[in-house]
Amino acid sequence: RNRAERLNRQSLPQQRQAIRFEDLPEFKRVATQRMAGEMLGVANPFYRSHDVAAGATTRIGGREFVNFASYDYLATNTHPHVAASAKEAIDRFGISASASRLVAGERPAHMELEKKLAHVYGVDAAVCFVSGYLTNVAAIGCLMGPQDLVIHDEFIHNSALAGIKLSGAARRLFKHNDMENLESILKTLSSDFRRILVIVEGIYSMDGDVADLPAVLELKARYGFWLMVDEAHALGILGKTGRGTFEHFGLDPRDIDIWMGTLSKTTSSCGGYIAGSSALVDILKAEAGGFVYSVGLSPVLAAAAIAGLDILQAEPERTERLGRNGRLFLECARAAGLDTGLSIGRSVVPVIVGDSLRAAQLSNDLLAEGVNVMPIIHPAVPEGMARLRFFITCNHTEEQIRRAVALTAAKLKSLEDRKFGLASLDI
Ligand code: PMP
Repeated sequence: RNRAERLNRQSLPQQRQAIRFEDLPEFKRVATQRMAGEMLGVANPFYRSHDVAAGATTRIGGREFVNFASYDYLATNTHPHVAASAKEAIDRFGISASASRLVAGERPAHMELEKKLAHVYGVDAAVCFVSGYLTNVAAIGCLMGPQDLVIHDEFIHNSALAGIKLSGAARRLFKHNDMENLESILKTLSSDFRRILVIVEGIYSMDGDVADLPAVLELKARYGFWLMVDEAHALGILGKTGRGTFEHFGLDPRDIDIWMGTLSKTTSSCGGYIAGSSALVDILKAEAGGFVYSVGLSPVLAAAAIAGLDILQAEPERTERLGRNGRLFLECARAAGLDTGLSIGRSVVPVIVGDSLRAAQLSNDLLAEGVNVMPIIHPAVPEGMARLRFFITCNHTEEQIRRAVALTAAKLKSLEDRKFGLASLDI
């Protein structure tokens, strides 16, 4: 207080003034988008608040909706086994791990969950982090450094990009799923780099297609790099028993160096994991800042994820139903002339519409008809590739899927003549 008063009284000459947040280009972008929405009469479709657990259906503002905006692909979020396990964990451990796992935050559920995850991939070990996003940031940030190179698919998730940035490694991207492009990058590399990591996603989060893992493994055999596969949208989805991309292709999961996944989707919890060799896991548990210096995964969430994995293994029909629904959605959408991009029709099916505001308006129009689906706009996808991203669940009915597709096609058609590009506005 005294110091503040003294500074006030002294009225020192101003050396430098902090920039106002309002003057940042980032804020100007937000403001322009908001103004464009207002001028074109497009209400903000984001941050709709749900009154219930949102699965195949939901309730928003007291109204019921068919919902295509939930990660709960296998409807495990409201499963009684998940709820009972979580409640039991609360009674025993409270909500928080209350410390980093290194120092008093370790609970039995952590080890049990990590053992189960390692078992899914048939590898030595696994380690869990408090979010999927943090998992990519912490693991890549820990394993790679300024002497290293990361090569990744151009559609890789933002969390992996953040990890690369943190690591300080050099970065090269290859065209989406283009193995020739990947090989041409590998061919031209000098041997200057200490370590090389290639990152792909099992199912791509915005496009719903699958990495060409057999081809990447062939390149790995010739060019010798670490391979990391992000299974966020593939665990419980791909493969006959839902074990993911390796099962889908009939590959040996131990040929992949780093399996990454999130607990927020088919295992109805929150958190992320890395699975691989014991040495890899030992390194991360000792050196990854996002693990060492962060609170341990909540025992409640660990218990919920264990129960989610149990369900996934005990009830493979959920994976089968999801597959049927995804394929039906894709088939109907294509028949209706919608642009579903590259999706193979499983967990994620996009409907690409072009301008960001067109996607936002389409989302609003569908909401008015009882269908909740979110627009994905720039910068999450390239400019002009805005889309509605339909998350398919095993609990959607055939009628819900057919109706949602028909409505999407009809509403999109009715927007055909409306101009949505920012260029159409004088701002
Ligand atoms: N990887 C991918 C491919 C994702 O789509 C996401 C987010 N959905 C994450 C990582 C981060 O996971 P989480 O949302 O559980 O933090």
